[in-house]
Amino acid sequence: MRETTAGPRVLLRRLREMMAEALEPQERLDRIVREIAQNMVAEVCSLYILRADSFLELYATEGLNPGSVHLAQLRLGQGLVGTIAASARALNLSDAQKHPAFAYLPETGEEIYHSFLGVPVLRAGRTLGVLVVQNRTKRHYRDDEMEALETVAMVIAEMIATGDLARLTRPGMELDLRRSVSMDGLSFNEGVGLGHVVLHEPRVVVTNLFNEDSDQEIERLEVALSSLRLSIDDMLSRRDVAFEGEHRAVLEAYRMFANDRGWVRRLEEAVRNGLTAEAAVEKVQSDMRARMLHMTDPYLRERMSDFDDLANRLLRQLMGRGPDALAEVLPKDAILVARNMGAAELLDYPRQKLRGLVLEDGAPTSHIVIVARAIGLPTVGQVKGAVSLSENGDAIIVDGEEGQVHLRPQADIEAAYSEKVRFRARRQQLYRELRDRPPVSKDGVAVELLMNAGLAVDLPQLAQSGAAGIGLFRTELQFMVASTFPRVEAQERLYREVIDAADGKPVTFRTIDIGGDKVLPYFKGVQQEENPALGWRAIRLTLDRPGLLRTQVRALLKASGGRELKLMLPMVTEISEIAKARDIIDREVRHLSRFAHHLPTSLKLGAMVEVPSLLWQLDELMSAVDFVSVGSNDLFQFVMATDRGNTRIADRFDPLCAPFLRLLRQIAEAGRKADKPVTLCGELAGRPISAMALLGIGYRAISMAPASIGPVKAMLCELPLEALSERMEIALAKNAAKTDIRAELRQFASEHDIPL
Ligand code: PEP
Ligand code: MG
Repeated sequence: MRETTAGPRVLLRRLREMMAEALEPQERLDRIVREIAQNMVAEVCSLYILRADSFLELYATEGLNPGSVHLAQLRLGQGLVGTIAASARALNLSDAQKHPAFAYLPETGEEIYHSFLGVPVLRAGRTLGVLVVQNRTKRHYRDDEMEALETVAMVIAEMIATGDLARLTRPGMELDLRRSVSMDGLSFNEGVGLGHVVLHEPRVVVTNLFNEDSDQEIERLEVALSSLRLSIDDMLSRRDVAFEGEHRAVLEAYRMFANDRGWVRRLEEAVRNGLTAEAAVEKVQSDMRARMLHMTDPYLRERMSDFDDLANRLLRQLMGRGPDALAEVLPKDAILVARNMGAAELLDYPRQKLRGLVLEDGAPTSHIVIVARAIGLPTVGQVKGAVSLSENGDAIIVDGEEGQVHLRPQADIEAAYSEKVRFRARRQQLYRELRDRPPVSKDGVAVELLMNAGLAVDLPQLAQSGAAGIGLFRTELQFMVASTFPRVEAQERLYREVIDAADGKPVTFRTIDIGGDKVLPYFKGVQQEENPALGWRAIRLTLDRPGLLRTQVRALLKASGGRELKLMLPMVTEISEIAKARDIIDREVRHLSRFAHHLPTSLKLGAMVEVPSLLWQLDELMSAVDFVSVGSNDLFQFVMATDRGNTRIADRFDPLCAPFLRLLRQIAEAGRKADKPVTLCGELAGRPISAMALLGIGYRAISMAPASIGPVKAMLCELPLEALSERMEIALAKNAAKTDIRAELRQFASEHDIPL
């Protein structure tokens, strides 16, 4: 191979001409490989494309036996081509046949060629194929030749992605790009959604690949880079970084990358080779992404994702798009796919067009997930690779029950899910019909079915679900979705909105329960703790920072002027905490009455039973409060020493076991004895079988997610409660080691045709 002065620029110009010509796809490919071979003075140039069945099929060749096109194939990982595709790394060999991975394909006639240069065809970090040049002589290809071949590979990747080659595929031999993928994640919110992908950060599609004038293009690149750097500096210098929900560390990583000389050099090199600035960003980004795939260090992977975001920002900068351009045309069945996003960003989308949410990151307690749950959006999180595998408009199914995502699903999967969705819709219709039916058991016992809430978006559910009131209003959610401490006016506004929406139905406000896993990024003074669930949280924190509690109490008192106020304290461990909180509340009441404020008609103070220490002071507890509510999520976690957020042990112990039910029964009995209302507001209340157990041990008021009211009411309407109570009494008196209460409950339900 002689030194060539023609170089990649000429090659790219020729490619551009070929792309513009009206050619059949096969002819276009044939001419492309011929052109590359000529330009690079290679005897062979071949293009292999990855199929959905993980074979790399020879799609075009100059130099090898033309009869082997569409016949010669290698498995992913097999031979040199398979190795390049599997590793997403180029191979540059002066004597290919000596390489241990070399596999000889007799139909191609490639045995006479020694030197070999192969590069992956990459798009958004995914390998779509392999482009190879070969020569008879034993030579090592230069770096600039490798760079040129990579640039051409990128152009080919665009051709594949735009569907140009779809017409060349044979039935059953679809391209990998269109492959159906099923991905496992974690279920963050129930429900099933069928629809089409909307990438929250739409991948910028670079259509203009070739530049006219490299110098001018480098200038464009530099202008965009410096305004990118300025915008990052600007974000960093604003005091309210956390307000935008962007962590400082991420921004600092952006800044570091934006000033990274290696990155800038690689971008400039790609432009000098004839690409536009946009295409150069995409090429370098794709190379980086491919490398990222092989990184195992989670910290580095995270930083690479930051880098990815930065490259996207730069692309938008170059293409003159705002940083927060939403998908322009939202399909009516949009399923959002994002690495992560802020809670407020989700609320920017029209709810009626959303069918589901897929997040690469996210935690079950993250703000976005809280909001997704509040608006009833099926959500699956921790779906690694979801963003790079998806293209806008792809068909997708979100299964929030199994925690799975099916991208470009096959017809049978789609049909099965459509049936599932229809089934769910029928059930929902049934629940709607139950809405106005009084919540009374089959044998006439009235039960209060309340709902849990925490944001204004939850409020319409109060009427829709037919709940008797709000049994738990998690006030910390307002704090969690905000970017700074909500001011007293904002708090008051929300509480008033809640009480107005409740329209006379009772509402129990819980004072902020932050700390533990509920972190406020703007709240300074919270240190990393070894065991945050057992740490400085909830009432412990608010008693140490009385200003916080005082402000909240003031907002609550003002919002409920002329009406009843029910206030509840989270994570109470000893009775004295209630007295201290009461002091603060009383002082606020005195303060407001001094200024002639309209005060609540009555003020009831309750405590949550979440810490086991209260179990041995139930009588004292009952006389210190007006009501109690069992937080079974935390109580179970502490009683069973089982972290509620740890998926590994999540299903290990059953809350419907005899010891836990005996203990819950004891709390209900203590309440009855002291004539103090007892409710339960943890997740246990929301599943028909566990709700049934709670009724069977004496609970008459339970609070749950609004979507659970229908299924629980359906159970209640068929429940002979007296008979169940007797049955539970006997079951709980038995040897706990030999009793399977869950099985007993199932048996009872099937005997009485109770829907669970
Ligand atoms: C509980 O712990 O059961 C509860 C209702 O509170 P949270 O889930 O908000 O901790
Ligand atoms: Mg709790």
